[in-house]
Amino acid sequence: MFSPTFLKHKNKLKSPIKVTLGAILCSSMMVSNAIAWSEHSLISYPILNTMPEVAEQAPIKVETLAEFVTAEAQGLATLLATNEDWLRQNFPHYKPRPDAIAFDAADKDLQTSFIHAIRINPNARVNPYIQLLPGQDKQGRRQLDSSEVAVFTNLDHYNTMTFVEVKSGELVTPIEVLVSANDDPDNGLDIGLFTDSNTEVGKLYGFGKQAFGNPALEYGSQAPFHMGFYHESSILFTLAPFLRETFPDYRVHMYKALSEYAFSTGHDYWGWRFMGWGMHYIGDIAQSYHSTLQPGVSTVSSIWTNAKDMMGYPQAKIDAIQLLSNRHLVLEEFQEIITKKAYEDNDFSSALFTALTQETAVVEYSDNTFVEVFAKNSYDKSDKLADYLERWVPQQLVSDPSFEVDGSKEIKMIVQLIREQHGEEGITKMSNLLAEFMLDHNANTRSYVRAILSHKP
Ligand SMILES: [Zn+2]
Repeated sequence: MFSPTFLKHKNKLKSPIKVTLGAILCSSMMVSNAIAWSEHSLISYPILNTMPEVAEQAPIKVETLAEFVTAEAQGLATLLATNEDWLRQNFPHYKPRPDAIAFDAADKDLQTSFIHAIRINPNARVNPYIQLLPGQDKQGRRQLDSSEVAVFTNLDHYNTMTFVEVKSGELVTPIEVLVSANDDPDNGLDIGLFTDSNTEVGKLYGFGKQAFGNPALEYGSQAPFHMGFYHESSILFTLAPFLRETFPDYRVHMYKALSEYAFSTGHDYWGWRFMGWGMHYIGDIAQSYHSTLQPGVSTVSSIWTNAKDMMGYPQAKIDAIQLLSNRHLVLEEFQEIITKKAYEDNDFSSALFTALTQETAVVEYSDNTFVEVFAKNSYDKSDKLADYLERWVPQQLVSDPSFEVDGSKEIKMIVQLIREQHGEEGITKMSNLLAEFMLDHNANTRSYVRAILSHKP
């Protein structure tokens, strides 16, 4: 009699930890749609434009995905099989791709077979397009509706961006392809891929149930692909093993392999496009809110908050979630305003542009660089980030759990409010901190791009 009661009790204990920690995680995803940096393209362009190996490349011919997979069916079947074996052997928390959806070179619908094999959202828009940079001319190309680029019901976020169509055989520059592709993972590639996503592919893909994030939210299901927790304490992983169920490292590895393959077989458009997809996750992980469960909060405090919740005192947890959400949003909004202002003013001497354009020290990229260097640097900066937010941003926005930052008028005035309270010093401190993150972003991007290009014939 003792045993069943004990087991029942144990199960009861286990699941609330998962639920509560899951809820804490969920908050960082509710913020600005699980986007780490606003408009990756505005950040990546200055980096790529100062890499001669990218910026000085001759224009290339556009190719559709169907054309690429048809021309390379046999080779892709071999590449993806080899890559799958490698992932199973080398990534300890990898969720294997079910054998039933392996790429089949004899399939009548090769594009669908490929999409299933790389486990992306079949509704994602993979047609060739270019996202124009501020001030860039359409060159007579048809402007695309945002719905032709992104899958979401609410596309308000895209109102300030301009997309144009490019067709098979047209010439485009590699930097245009890369900068555009860099945002693709936030446009729908990773939506609806879990068994509880209520989609057909969710049941096929083998990713299991969504470990955290709210599956009911439109953007919610991409969270475990755009966040990676690799450096939390072992006790936290023991209490909440689902924290291991994140996949940006897998995405980066796969897109790098596909990019190198496309270049080696003369399909440069897809070489650059897959490179851009991988670059996205490298940018995301440089942001501490995507690499760290609760920046600035100790493991002990985190566990205690959850323990109190389980004992029937949920307020500390509710407050923690609100603060996490508010701070994440503050950082992104500050970045967005500073970035757009630098573009408007053509202020290329700003701390932001200096950080993005300088030739900085770059590590040689290897298979564990994403986790051991990029994610680790980001995790290590999380305390400093939390500290700066507490010190230089008005208290209401970062330390008042009764205040909802999302949708507030204060968040739009963030730069002005920092200036009112802390003068130019506040702006300088926060801008310099942002520049530190951008310098990592710069170094990580160069490292990854160079690693792929070193294989380009
Ligand atoms: Zn993202």
